[in-house]
Amino acid sequence: MPFDSLGLAPALVQAAAESGYAAPTAIQAAAIPAILQGRDVRGSAQTGSGKTAAFSLPLLQRLVAEAAQSPRRVRALVLVPTRELAAQVGETMRSLAQHLPERLKIAIAFGGVSINPQMMGLRGGADIVVATPGRLLDLVDHNALKLNTVSMLVLDEADRLFDLGFAEELNRILAMLPAQRQNLLFSATFPPAIQALADGMLREPAVIDVQGEPGTEPAIVQRVIEVDPDRRTQLLRHLLKENEWERVLVFVATQHSAQIVAEKLYKNGVYAVPFHGDIAQGTRTDILAQFKQSRWDVVIATDLAARGIDIAQLPVVINYDLPRSPTDYIHRIGRTGRAGESGLAISFVSASTEAHFRLIEKRQGLSLPRERIEGFEPTEVAVPLVDASGTGGIKGKRPSKKDKLRAAAALAATQHGGDKAEKND
Ligand code: AMP
Repeated sequence: MPFDSLGLAPALVQAAAESGYAAPTAIQAAAIPAILQGRDVRGSAQTGSGKTAAFSLPLLQRLVAEAAQSPRRVRALVLVPTRELAAQVGETMRSLAQHLPERLKIAIAFGGVSINPQMMGLRGGADIVVATPGRLLDLVDHNALKLNTVSMLVLDEADRLFDLGFAEELNRILAMLPAQRQNLLFSATFPPAIQALADGMLREPAVIDVQGEPGTEPAIVQRVIEVDPDRRTQLLRHLLKENEWERVLVFVATQHSAQIVAEKLYKNGVYAVPFHGDIAQGTRTDILAQFKQSRWDVVIATDLAARGIDIAQLPVVINYDLPRSPTDYIHRIGRTGRAGESGLAISFVSASTEAHFRLIEKRQGLSLPRERIEGFEPTEVAVPLVDASGTGGIKGKRPSKKDKLRAAAALAATQHGGDKAEKND
């Protein structure tokens, strides 16, 4: 099915073609007509399957169809959970809007950089604002923009925005928007509890879920390697040397680990750099740009890099530390295998994190073979799970297999540093 059969204006079809989009992806084919009709949408599709264009193209079309306003007022608000994503989504929208007969002003706002240029940029208004929640509220507090004219709201990575860490800001923002508006919620994951929250703000939505449909699965090969925790950096070096991957994204649990692992690799001649929320925003932006330009071979990141970031030709993602949740696992490995490319995701597991990984596998209905690499065979055995009293449990009630899995998962989570999810907007 070609793009021009979806009811999009020729200027948008042309921009899509120039971006290399030959035909719509499954989520685009389903979401674009529904959005053009003015319906609310909850859309889920695999990571890397073109969700940004799925909401951007019809949103742009709906805005140009309206009469131009002077001064401009914010008609569409796109909220995203990270600064990098704000920049990425805003740039994609600008590029898709470039041939429209009427120029739409798209403002991008995120924290960690001076607010003044963003305030200047909003002088004279804007048609679309792409922002992280915290900086958006700062701008509202500075009277740089008003949200009472928004007619379209997009929550990209919506389940993350409904997380506790964003709840207060999101509620403040929602309270400023007109009740009458079109709501578009997109993510690769909508855990059940979040789905209920999301549905609470949607009106007779088109619920689009193209996950698992034939041809929509990203071709990501998942591997699991057993290794003792203290041999992981050496194993990582070994794998980098053996495989000569073009670029590799490695996930760790804490900012501290990102620093340590990157330093160790760098000292051993690997162009590795840490990436986390405690790094200055300008440096963060540079690191991502340089990674895309192959100036860095390896980025050691916290979950800050797990959501939405689109790096073409990223063949490998490695979970040096396991993610906290099955949801985070899906987003982490989804940084590879984008836009129909193939990808490889490797997870390191040890005796103490094995049970946690089994939970991740179970949620996805997977059972992956465990591999061992010669010279890195693990020697540690799992710590037996005893109750705190050390008496061997409550008399007459032996822990079930499920209890053991849960306890091991809790233990693994604390061993992973257990620091709060990095919220950095
Ligand atoms: P997204 O899921 O929006 O981050 O998009 C993932 C990648 O797919 C990006 O690199 C897009 O440029 C690319 N993409 C989006 N739509 C299409 C399409 N229809 N055909 C080919 N590539 C696409």
